[in-house]
Amino acid sequence: MKNSQTVLAFQESWLAEPRVALDKKIAEYLGSIVVDQTGAFLSQVAETKLRSQAETLANELKTQGEKLFKEKPLAGVCIGIKDNIAVEGEQLTCGSRILEKYRAPYSATVIERCEKAGALIFGKLNLDEFAMGSSGENSAYLKTSHPTHPDRVCGGSSSGSALAVAGRLVDTSLGSDTGGSIRLPASFCGTFGLKPTYGRVSRYGLVAYGSSLDQIGPLSNSLSDLELMARVIYGSDPRDSTSVQTELAGWNSEVSKSANPRPQFGFLADNCLEGLQPEIRLQYEVLKEQARSKGAQVSEIDLGFLKQSVPVYYIIAMCEASSNLSRFDGVRYQSRAAASFEASKLDEFYESTRALFGSEVKKRILLGAFALSSGYYDDYYLKAAKVRRLIAQELNQVFQKIEAIVLPTSSTTAFKKGERQTDPVKMFLSDLYTVVANLAGVPALAFPHSKDNEGLPIGFQIMGPGFSDEKLVIWAEQYLTQAIDVGAK
Ligand code: GLN
Repeated sequence: MKNSQTVLAFQESWLAEPRVALDKKIAEYLGSIVVDQTGAFLSQVAETKLRSQAETLANELKTQGEKLFKEKPLAGVCIGIKDNIAVEGEQLTCGSRILEKYRAPYSATVIERCEKAGALIFGKLNLDEFAMGSSGENSAYLKTSHPTHPDRVCGGSSSGSALAVAGRLVDTSLGSDTGGSIRLPASFCGTFGLKPTYGRVSRYGLVAYGSSLDQIGPLSNSLSDLELMARVIYGSDPRDSTSVQTELAGWNSEVSKSANPRPQFGFLADNCLEGLQPEIRLQYEVLKEQARSKGAQVSEIDLGFLKQSVPVYYIIAMCEASSNLSRFDGVRYQSRAAASFEASKLDEFYESTRALFGSEVKKRILLGAFALSSGYYDDYYLKAAKVRRLIAQELNQVFQKIEAIVLPTSSTTAFKKGERQTDPVKMFLSDLYTVVANLAGVPALAFPHSKDNEGLPIGFQIMGPGFSDEKLVIWAEQYLTQAIDVGAK
């Protein structure tokens, strides 16, 4: 039987058996990871390390009792980390051959916080190379599969983060979201996933893809687990210059208390829902009725700028990626290609190492460098940056009238493997409903809701203005989630 307890339920049962409950859970998870066929994990932390951490925690629990959970709210929580977030001494491949042997010399701020809070880090999770992708098919290492439908993708780029949670290989995980990479795989696999307000979670130790868009966030099987993780990882950090330096950066129960008990939710008008899979369309109506019957006020809104958001996002993301990824040159980081030692010219030296990037990453670096080059900068990057600002302004105006927008996460449920690999435009359009939150820097929470005719999870998201993260969790709980298990397993 796979562990399906929430963290809080586990901690309660652990109190009764401090010596054995955690050992049993660790054994269960390690056993599941060994037989896992979905490609969730890229590497595991040594079992001896986990066991000795567990022993220390068990001793602390014996002496402190439940006081331990005040000081260490993640005590005994088994977590997995997307392999673009640094954990000192562990591999940090970003799913790329270019970082194959690279080990992180320090830990990300979120990792330091989780460890201090008593979490047990199980290992590094699979991802689309450098977090570029929507399907989980761009990893240079293991192929990923949907947890219940092996012919389907699991979504990306935080593919392993969703798989590990949905497959009950860990309690919760951390992913990163630049344009939907937490929310899309969460929805495809039937889990929760939170993309925080930009600046509320430190990016220190996250390998940058699009720095003005990237945020680290948690994925989980329950809202209570998600909140527990958020309380630990949120907060300002002097090591991240874009971190919000106020108390608003921390997870704040006062904010949740001020959540309107009869919130006004905007649901998208028909013209924003073209091309939606019929079952998702139907469930969107069900969700609307559900929210209304539970007491929320519901209105229709037209986000006319949705169509512009995808091209604007991809121009900005690729420009930032081309700049961020220039650091991987075979000089400063592993790996240096063997051929580079034979190079007689500088160009040859760079070319041989940078050939280790996969094709999606190369494409984006080239397109980004092109859009930033003199003569094209004004037409592409500058224009995209201006439209981005207009989108953020329009969205903020919408939030003057309503408190949150409830929208699909994706037009379809998990699609077939290979289906969009040869059609980049179709692949990019997988992000139609997710990129707006990143462009505007606002929070969005993906939650599982129902299933389609083939039994694939259908997820939706709730997106609010900046700093409404806590309220989104409360509203999702009160108005949007159903008391049925729609998880993948
Ligand atoms: N699918 C989007 C992209 O490839 C989003 C990726 C992400 O959020 N990391 O850019």
